[in-house]
Amino acid sequence: MNFSKTTLALGLAALVSATPAFATNIVASIKPIELIVKAVAGDKMNVSTIVPPGSSPHNYSMKPSQRRALEQADAIFWVGPDMETFLSRLLGGTEFAGKVVAFTEPSEGEPDMHHDHHDHHHHGHDHGDGEDPHLWVDPGMALQMAKAVHAKLSTLDGINISELDANLKEFEHSLHTTEQNIETSFKQLKGTSLFAYHNAFERFAEHYELDLAGVLTLNPELSPGARHIAEVQKQLRAANQPCLLTEPQFNRQWWRSITEGLNVTVSTWDPLATDIASTANGYIEFQQSIADAVLECLPK
Ligand SMILES: [Zn+2]
Ligand SMILES: [Zn+2]
Repeated sequence: MNFSKTTLALGLAALVSATPAFATNIVASIKPIELIVKAVAGDKMNVSTIVPPGSSPHNYSMKPSQRRALEQADAIFWVGPDMETFLSRLLGGTEFAGKVVAFTEPSEGEPDMHHDHHDHHHHGHDHGDGEDPHLWVDPGMALQMAKAVHAKLSTLDGINISELDANLKEFEHSLHTTEQNIETSFKQLKGTSLFAYHNAFERFAEHYELDLAGVLTLNPELSPGARHIAEVQKQLRAANQPCLLTEPQFNRQWWRSITEGLNVTVSTWDPLATDIASTANGYIEFQQSIADAVLECLPK
């Protein structure tokens, strides 16, 4: 992460503070990041999000008005070039340097986004290096992201830092409780084989040590070929209690043709948190919503 180049901003702050109550402009690339920002900044913080409901960050193109929002932003948060490819050139350049935080862009001397699990919760998994950019579905990563948001927002003028501190503490606590409840509920899943539509589910599965038997496509924009479909069908047939986790952005017809004649449970989850209200508690609700979708896989 790059938190440098704030010196100029701090210099200007003296001038700006003479102006009464100006609003802080925060831009998030996608809804889950908006939720993490709200967890740290509180409900009242105005956060605008670039990728609108129903669109995929994998293939989005930005509107001119959104470029203006970026220009007016005090801080911009995005996952990084492997995720929001449409922002790579713009946010990777020098124009926005100093106000951009990328969660998958480790820089020298700065801690990487690999999180340590607490003692009670040590499952020794390694989150690897940036292969899968869907960081935010892993609650441990979400906490690290929240800490990075806190660090960035703390540098902005007009921010109440003790409020940020309290919010972050509250988030950490709620996240911890939610994680423990989810872990307990997942004990019932023994014997269920999960299949996911694209790799967005992988880090969640890894964090909770779920049995992820297959991922159908690594590129959600491409329809898989006939040979790949046949392979997946073979896996589904061989699996114990197979359950497919679909996503709302995904073509239902495709699932139907794959699961035809097979005894497969289908459940939908949304990695983009589309229906989650944008509040300080939104990320917690989102994390729980993924767990609830997984629990739909249990035999009735
Ligand atoms: Zn994705
Ligand atoms: Zn984890």
